[in-house]
Amino acid sequence: MINLELPKKLKASANQAHQVAAQIFRPVSRKYDLAEHEYPVELDTMAAMVEALNDSGQGAAGATLGREGKTKDSDGSNANGGNMAGLLNVIETCWGDVGLTLSIPYQGLGNSAIAAVATDEQLERFGKVWASMAITEPSFGSDSAAVTTTAVLDGDEWVLNGEKIFVTSGERSSHVVVWASVDKSKGRAAIKSFVVPRDAPGLSVARLEHKLGIKASDTAVLLLQDCRIPKDNILGSPEVNVEQGFAGVMQTFDNTRPIVAGMAIGLGRAVLEELRGILSEAGVEVSYDVPANNQHAAAAEFLALEADWESAYLLALRATWMADNKKPNSLEASISKAKAGRTGTAVSLKAVELAGTYGYSERPLLEKWARDSKILDIFEGTQQIQQLIVARRVLGKSSSELK
Ligand SMILES: Cc1cc2nc3c(=O)[nH]c(=O)nc-3n(C[C@H](O)[C@H](O)[C@H](O)COP(=O)(O)OP(=O)(O)OC[C@H]3O[C@@H](n4cnc5c(N)ncnc54)[C@H](O)[C@@H]3O)c2cc1C
Repeated sequence: MINLELPKKLKASANQAHQVAAQIFRPVSRKYDLAEHEYPVELDTMAAMVEALNDSGQGAAGATLGREGKTKDSDGSNANGGNMAGLLNVIETCWGDVGLTLSIPYQGLGNSAIAAVATDEQLERFGKVWASMAITEPSFGSDSAAVTTTAVLDGDEWVLNGEKIFVTSGERSSHVVVWASVDKSKGRAAIKSFVVPRDAPGLSVARLEHKLGIKASDTAVLLLQDCRIPKDNILGSPEVNVEQGFAGVMQTFDNTRPIVAGMAIGLGRAVLEELRGILSEAGVEVSYDVPANNQHAAAAEFLALEADWESAYLLALRATWMADNKKPNSLEASISKAKAGRTGTAVSLKAVELAGTYGYSERPLLEKWARDSKILDIFEGTQQIQQLIVARRVLGKSSSELK
């Protein structure tokens, strides 16, 4: 039985995240939207705060994900732990600003990968780094089994070669989790993830991308040219287990997809709050006592958007609760990401429309949120890919049977 009531201890850290969003992120949200690639100095003041949160097991997004639930209830049956804290906090910080949230030190998607599959010894070494995630290459995006970057063992070191594109926080992070094949002849089972320090010899930033939204977040092209890292920087087993296939590295997504859903939910809530205020100022009040079709058309639209948002929120809670409680959640993680990604873009674009010329102008943040939202329906698996995964799971088809 899923209990949807949030534990008090998680509410406290979510409140703290909300303060950060309201006092640090919102005031500079437009500034860094207009100053792409400029480092948000405000983030420096946050680093210590985030470290303290992580030490207490209440990280703002990725760093604590996927580990044992840290806050088991007294009967030991319900663990609203690291994942749930991460979800609730990211909802709050993305209510403030998605691009700045993606730039919070120590909270990269690579941290989630480390948290999900690192050994205890690796957690000791990498538990407090800031790790971005490098999967995508010039030759593929959605088809993550098509990795061409290689990793070859040479004595006590792995030697990596390849090009990774669109790496969020690829320039600012201290480490990069790189997906590479240890043996291309063995297909997807040979794809492993490696923790590569940003100062490793042979790793360089080729350029930063200019983007539609989330301009506060640096998105880098990384080159790995005979890049050498220690042998024990591989995450998980170096053995190529054809039976297990891709499962090892893909496990990361079960934790990260609900978090990306949370980003869209946080942004969506910001949009709905702003829109409701704008409608109210225009004399359109939303009522929960009168049927939607008996209200002003804009109020009816608002109610439909809010209902969509609410279902996205509940689906993310479910997927996250399952992750904390060690229940297989690949299906629910994809459902939650698909619903929230779609809802974030639909809600924010509709709000621009309902707010008229004011919504399209740069005076409120509505047009920025509409631009920022799109990426949440793309990275960590696009809308179409999430639907494909859901269809495969519901129909019991393998990836080769349903493409
Ligand atoms: C701002 C930004 C930040 C990013 N950050 C990261 C990061 O940190 N790390 C990282 O590794 N990657 C990152 N990415 C890359 C992102 O994960 C990919 O863009 C995404 O996986 C989609 O890949 P693609 O863009 O190559 O699209 P493609 O895979 O070429 O797909 C193009 C279109 O076809 C659709 N499509 C593809 N296959 C199918 C199918 N089988 N059935 C139906 N439709 C299909 C897709 O949904 C999409 O609409 C980032 C991208 C952006 C834009």
